[in-house]
Amino acid sequence: MEFAIGVDLGGSHTAAGAVTADGKIIQQAERDIISHEPNAVVDEIDLVVKQVLALAGEKDCIGIGIGSPGNIDDKTGTINWSPNFQWTDVPLKAMLEKRIKHPVHVLNDARCATLGEYLYGSGKGVAEFALITLGTGIGGGFISGGRLLLGSAMGAGEVGHHVIRPENGFICTCGKRGCFEAQASGTGLLRHALMLAPSFPRSTLLTRKPQDKWGSKMIRKAVAKGDEHAIATWRNWIADLALGVSNIIAFTNPAIIAIGGGVGQTDEKMLAEPLKKLVDELTVTVPKGITRIVTAQLGNDAGVIGAASVARLGGTRQLSKPLNGVVATPVKTKN
Ligand SMILES: [Zn+2]
Repeated sequence: MEFAIGVDLGGSHTAAGAVTADGKIIQQAERDIISHEPNAVVDEIDLVVKQVLALAGEKDCIGIGIGSPGNIDDKTGTINWSPNFQWTDVPLKAMLEKRIKHPVHVLNDARCATLGEYLYGSGKGVAEFALITLGTGIGGGFISGGRLLLGSAMGAGEVGHHVIRPENGFICTCGKRGCFEAQASGTGLLRHALMLAPSFPRSTLLTRKPQDKWGSKMIRKAVAKGDEHAIATWRNWIADLALGVSNIIAFTNPAIIAIGGGVGQTDEKMLAEPLKKLVDELTVTVPKGITRIVTAQLGNDAGVIGAASVARLGGTRQLSKPLNGVVATPVKTKN
């Protein structure tokens, strides 16, 4: 069965999957990323792709799509700049094509996830769609008129770095104060918890057992158990999330916003429902209640499935056209 390989490149590990035309992952593999030195990362991508090719059968592969962090030159597949890897001008596509005999295409990881959700998940058939991924940071992407928005230099969709709390917000990894990412990511949730800690000396978050890992999952569990510190943290965090989401609605007026990423996979009652209420209160410039807020459907596979669809389309240049129905026909061309 013919397939395209999608690779999701993260800071600490990389996942690859052989994906069929109907968006199913038929084989997959993962490898840890130990060093961020470009050659070391390319070694790991090369190995994970070869593992999947060995499992799925080399002859049926139509191409490789890589979802990478950073701003990427769509003509050359060079990573212009990636803060996660501290890379400047790394020719990822050219480096990989020296080792892998299939065509390689590179697109930003959050845009890949948006494409995956649009073609096969929560945005299927929705011409006005947005994805927000809540993890260590916040990523995103927009579909408008059935096309993935790329911007004039592949920079559209960087929703994490619009400022929502300029006066008293947390300092962001980008250096600004009060970015959406600093306030409303998984890391933002932990920061809200730490800020409120002095008011809750009997918090179960502060008296946790040493084996309980300090993280957003622990806070979500404590909210479900009724811990007051966790509930106050969640309330402040979701207020910031709502502020950013309402801005995004004003930017592109999507029919659906899907919340993805690790933190996005939270029970609808706890996340999507209170978020909808707050967003409605903050939505003033477009009709209220038009944008549906839903949980993304593909989970952690969105990036791999979306990256594979870039390969299936025959490269990022094809993204300038409306996409519905295009992926059914495999294209085997180089960028
Ligand atoms: Zn920022």
